[in-house]
Amino acid sequence: VWKNCLSFIQDNIQPQAFKTWFLPIKPVRLTENALSIEVPSKFFYEWLEEHYVKLLKVALTKELGENAKLIYIIKMENKYGNSESITEKIPSSNRSAMAPQELDVPVTSKDPELKNPFVIPGIRNIKIESQLNPNYNFENFLEGDSNRLARSAGMAVANKPGGTSFNPLLVYGGVGLGKTHLAHAIGVEIKDKYPEKTVLYISAEKFTQQYIESVKKNTRNDFIHFYQLIDVLIIDDVQFLSGKSGTQDVFFHIFNHLHQNGKQVILTSDKAPVDMQDIEQRLLSRFKWGLSAELQVPNYETRVSILKNKLYRDGVEMPDAIVDHVAKNIKTNIRELEGAIISLIAQSSFNKREVTLELAESIVEKFVKNTKREVSIDYIQKVVSDYFDMDVATLQSKTRKRHIVQARQLAMFFSKKYTKASLASIGSQIGKRDHATVLHACKTVDNLAETDKQFRKYIEDLNKKFT
Ligand code: ADP
Ligand code: MG
Repeated sequence: VWKNCLSFIQDNIQPQAFKTWFLPIKPVRLTENALSIEVPSKFFYEWLEEHYVKLLKVALTKELGENAKLIYIIKMENKYGNSESITEKIPSSNRSAMAPQELDVPVTSKDPELKNPFVIPGIRNIKIESQLNPNYNFENFLEGDSNRLARSAGMAVANKPGGTSFNPLLVYGGVGLGKTHLAHAIGVEIKDKYPEKTVLYISAEKFTQQYIESVKKNTRNDFIHFYQLIDVLIIDDVQFLSGKSGTQDVFFHIFNHLHQNGKQVILTSDKAPVDMQDIEQRLLSRFKWGLSAELQVPNYETRVSILKNKLYRDGVEMPDAIVDHVAKNIKTNIRELEGAIISLIAQSSFNKREVTLELAESIVEKFVKNTKREVSIDYIQKVVSDYFDMDVATLQSKTRKRHIVQARQLAMFFSKKYTKASLASIGSQIGKRDHATVLHACKTVDNLAETDKQFRKYIEDLNKKFT
């Protein structure tokens, strides 16, 4: 049966492609209407499904009739001698561990009988779940001056993914300004317009974890191939890749492959490319190929309309004066804007109190205080460098000049004091030091504070700037 299939296939494709993709296939078993074939790797299987699924279907139907089924067996070299051991000797519960999910990206099908991804009843494509949140769509991403450019660029990309000059589209802006929402909205819209396109949303953090995992398991190539099959790749918070050169490297290759093939890449970041630190130059230059669009802090009108829209969607009524008070006082973070109104609704229903302006004031006050207390490591480094009249790069540099070392140690000390970051993460953000260096810095600062009057003055001055 397989021989006949092969000769049909051979007549219908390029000789080189036939040699590469069909000769390595081994027919393994034939039951009534199901042919099992063994393929050398998961990537191989994905490639067949992606490019030759129709051809295979026609060939097989000719041989086995309308109900023909094709079962793929992916050969796991090194680990398990031959394919037989996979299908016969390994209990089914273990099989999924070696299945395509190995990459920890859900590869699923709506079909419930498709539990074991090795076995594909009939011939069809495996679906990659896009991980999109349908609640983050364009409809409820309200437009304002602060987001007009980014929003309309996002719409343009959604209308013609890969077909605009906005590739990659990089959306950047501060915390809580809508990067994640907009990134999902673009993906959701693309899925809506082009259901056949493979869209994947993933945070840079998760991407990094998957990559590290793949290196451990020796499946780095599978990882790369998997990502190269995607039509629209959305990576959230790419600043997370800073300092992670291995992940940056692999992303660079994936990016190039996708870009060359007209696939769309959408990125978000908390900074503009020019301000990104510890990201390789070649990646930064790729980021600049497309469009970088900023999400700015929304103005008062936009804040009011976001709040009103939220209340409307939740079916809650609230006096204008209260909405106004919240919008006037919470200015720089839409997540907190929403948080304040949610907490207001919760408080009033919990205590069966009416929402009074007083209650609103006390809740808003809490939110504003919280925001103020939140200091970032970046901010601390900037303040300390300014204080000592040097730039951040100098503070982070490897130099052992005494006053620079002291500035660096103070930045570490204050980062420990005012942020929730771990020693390791403080170290990596302040010129790629390790946690022991940060610990040492904190101790040194403590000691000097007791023994050195001038130094104590530095600490007091700086403390004032952070509180
Ligand atoms: P970021 O990823 O930039 O930190 P998010 O995308 O998580 O911010 O947005 C924070 C919250 O603000 C989310 O609940 C989001 O729905 C809401 N939000 C942000 N921008 C808008 C907007 N333009 N219209 C409505 N809601 C918004
Ligand atoms: Mg986000």
